[in-house]
Amino acid sequence: INKIGVMTSGGDSPGMNAAIRSVVRTCAFHEIECIGIYRGYQGLIEGDFKEMNARSVNNIINKGGTILKSARSQEFRTKEGRESAFAKAREKGLDALVVIGGDGSFTGAMIFSQEFDIPVMGIPGTIDNDIFGTSATLGYDTALNTVVEAIDKIRDTASSHNRLFFVEVMGRDVGHIALNAGVGAGAEEILIPEEDLGKDRLLESLKRSRQSGKSSSIVVVAEGDQTGENVFELKDYVEANLPEYEVRVSVLGHMQRGGSPSCADRVLASRMGVKAVESLLEGKTNYMVGIKDTQMVLCPIDKAVKGKTDIDLELIRVSDIMTT
Ligand code: ATP
Repeated sequence: INKIGVMTSGGDSPGMNAAIRSVVRTCAFHEIECIGIYRGYQGLIEGDFKEMNARSVNNIINKGGTILKSARSQEFRTKEGRESAFAKAREKGLDALVVIGGDGSFTGAMIFSQEFDIPVMGIPGTIDNDIFGTSATLGYDTALNTVVEAIDKIRDTASSHNRLFFVEVMGRDVGHIALNAGVGAGAEEILIPEEDLGKDRLLESLKRSRQSGKSSSIVVVAEGDQTGENVFELKDYVEANLPEYEVRVSVLGHMQRGGSPSCADRVLASRMGVKAVESLLEGKTNYMVGIKDTQMVLCPIDKAVKGKTDIDLELIRVSDIMTT
């Protein structure tokens, strides 16, 4: 392998720049060429490339987003699209690809590699932490810190006015952000997709909390929680049943995807970039780089795509005990 292409694909997450920097510098260290591919698979199809050297990635370790831009490419989902992508890759002399993204991006990489026999290596970049084969994805730790900081601020105003706040956080299919940030921010209740709390139990819990002397409360709600109602409907439901509560809603939204990456994400990105490039150089292909018990590991990319991550039941129990 003499030339590696690197791209960011799908939803962006903090730490992607640190991972690009690591891939580029590891290539430079091993004296192989590195080509940045702009806008994910769409940029590959269009041949939107930039030669990268160790100095191309100065001062980006601390920046959110991705300097290579990200995109969702419909064209790459078609055989013709992937053929064009391979033609451009060959024209540029790319011997392997490092794809920084989520499970959709890995599915694309897997299909591309099978069809054209090009080595691929995935780096998990998504704030949701919903990828099998790694205990942390890039951007997750930063997103947790962003959410906790936001909830701390909401708590200040909630407690000044004796209010109940519903705070909606990202997580359509998984509740890692809601559960961990909820425990970290001291939420009264946490509603996640993996557990059916039930609206009645929510009311009971809020009643108990009031009776125990708490004047304000924070309920963290993942987008895909099991009540099947959005935060505004939940607000109406609680106000209708517990008139003593003054309820407000705060939807954190895309701010959770941005910001300067945390130290943990920068370190993880640096380690993952080294592992990805060096694994390709060792002849490995079709893997995703991950972290398990503080060690860097490789997970076959098809497993990473298909596997499901489990929510931490012990943490749910901790959360329940903390709201006593
Ligand atoms: P996020 O965390 O935001 O969901 P993701 O990587 O899962 O990130 P997707 O939009 O699902 O984001 O996938 C990114 C890109 O990967 C798609 O736009 C498409 O180009 C490619 N891709 C996804 N699935 C496939 C597939 N089945 N075949 C070919 N390419 C695919």
